[in-house]
Amino acid sequence: MNTYDLSGIGMTSQRTRDRLVKRLADNGIGHDEVLSAVASVPRHIFIDEALAHRAYEDTALPIGHGQTISQPFIVALMTQSLLNRPRPRILEVGTGSGYQTAVLAGLTSLVQKVFTIERIDPLIERAQERLRALRCSNVRFKHGDGYQGWLEESPFDGILVTAAPRSVPEALLDQLAVGGRMVVPVGAEGVQELKVVDRNPDGFDVETVEYVRFVPLLKGVR
Ligand code: SAH
Repeated sequence: MNTYDLSGIGMTSQRTRDRLVKRLADNGIGHDEVLSAVASVPRHIFIDEALAHRAYEDTALPIGHGQTISQPFIVALMTQSLLNRPRPRILEVGTGSGYQTAVLAGLTSLVQKVFTIERIDPLIERAQERLRALRCSNVRFKHGDGYQGWLEESPFDGILVTAAPRSVPEALLDQLAVGGRMVVPVGAEGVQELKVVDRNPDGFDVETVEYVRFVPLLKGVR
């Protein structure tokens, strides 16, 4: 079991986190609850110690197994796009470090429960430990293939996908509630389109909000 320095890196952690939040606001993140959540989640505990001093830079960083923790601006943008209204039950595909999970789970005025799926076992175990250390009790974890979603817990009011499929997986569309919204990067490796998919009674509305770069959504588990 790892121990985590929840007090921050020396004395500067809260200050550097506040600076990051100001930068996100300057770059167009206008959702106050999302900005407060980013201000309160200690991103350095989601990163290996050797890189922890870079935790409050607005950049993606490696987390092992060829994966990355998403850039804070992208986490904030995806979260604000998803939470244009309260969405009690959220499915996250691609737990990775657990940072995005913690931001979602901390937004308790808008979100009740987060279900998160990851295909790489050691990553989900560490993410689970970190969220336990932060006393996040409204998260359920699953080691599995996100292409299948989480049928037993569906439908979801929101689905957030943090790795890029070539096209939106059918199972995830099926598991989205009517009135629900999915935020998902779509495209080949390199540059993808961040899409917002709204399910209405007659079908789906799709809008592109940004160009992004994510690791690919891969099939199967390991
Ligand atoms: N939200 C994460 C981002 C991690 S990167 C964070 O903030 O740290 C994307 C993650 O998606 C990786 O951990 C990768 O292993 C995972 N992933 C890729 N394909 C997947 C699939 N089919 N099902 C579940 N997770 C998947």
